[in-house]
Amino acid sequence: MKSFVGATLLVPSLLLAHLISGENSPLRILLMRVFARWVEVPLLRLTYEGCAGRLRFLTRFEPLRSLLGITVAYPLSRWGDTGKPMPLDALTEYVKSLQGDVAVGPCRCRIGHRACGHPLETDIVMRTGAGVWLKAFPRQYRVISRQEALAIVEGCADLGMFHMVFMHCMLGGAVNEYVICNCCKDGCVPYIANRTFGQRRFRLMRGDWIARVDEEACAACGECEAVCPFGERRILGGSSFVYDCYGCGLCAAACPQGATRMERRGTV
Ligand code: SF4
Ligand code: SF4
Repeated sequence: MKSFVGATLLVPSLLLAHLISGENSPLRILLMRVFARWVEVPLLRLTYEGCAGRLRFLTRFEPLRSLLGITVAYPLSRWGDTGKPMPLDALTEYVKSLQGDVAVGPCRCRIGHRACGHPLETDIVMRTGAGVWLKAFPRQYRVISRQEALAIVEGCADLGMFHMVFMHCMLGGAVNEYVICNCCKDGCVPYIANRTFGQRRFRLMRGDWIARVDEEACAACGECEAVCPFGERRILGGSSFVYDCYGCGLCAAACPQGATRMERRGTV
């Protein structure tokens, strides 16, 4: 009897697990469509206004910031949507390895608030994201080649921007990478939310790469400290230190001595 009940529950359980965690599950695609079509841009706009715009009073005072952090920012960034920084070299390999369509459209953050002057057509959707955003906004998104995607990413890197791969619906331990964002400190709303609420409340995932310094080669010029968008580099006593690196790679790209390099996290 017990084994009969177990077998009877197994199939619906597996089906439910797939619906929740499978990248191409109809439930997740449906959630992505709803998010893309009706939620994403208004949510980014509202978050921007609350963190840096006209509604900034909502996050200026600690009690209100804590309340919003616990009730909105925490669940959203844990289970709904968050990004992971990736250095340019690693991103180049990532783009080359992608299967299926890659498409580009206007940055969802910047069309919401227009707070910076960086290029608009930098939202590179891939995997499940390509089909969803192409269908949701056929006039805004277009299929591009891997070469064009790389040219966009490199152009943004030349402007000092950093890159994040965003994932969606992180339920049941699932990872659903769907867009490559080209970010800056003034325009990227998840970055601004992370800085406003703090890493504990609005999590950005630590990337797979981490900055390492060759102390012998370092001239303590401070370039790395100046470019780190996360404030995780410091020059102290004539040496350059890396604190809790997010793995964007900007400091390694800026180092005039070649004294900072990116290494895979956990290899040293
Ligand atoms: S940019 Fe390079 S040389 Fe300059 S302080 Fe940083 S690690 Fe040292
Ligand atoms: S130390 Fe800062 S600039 Fe350098 S890779 Fe880490 S997060 Fe990026």
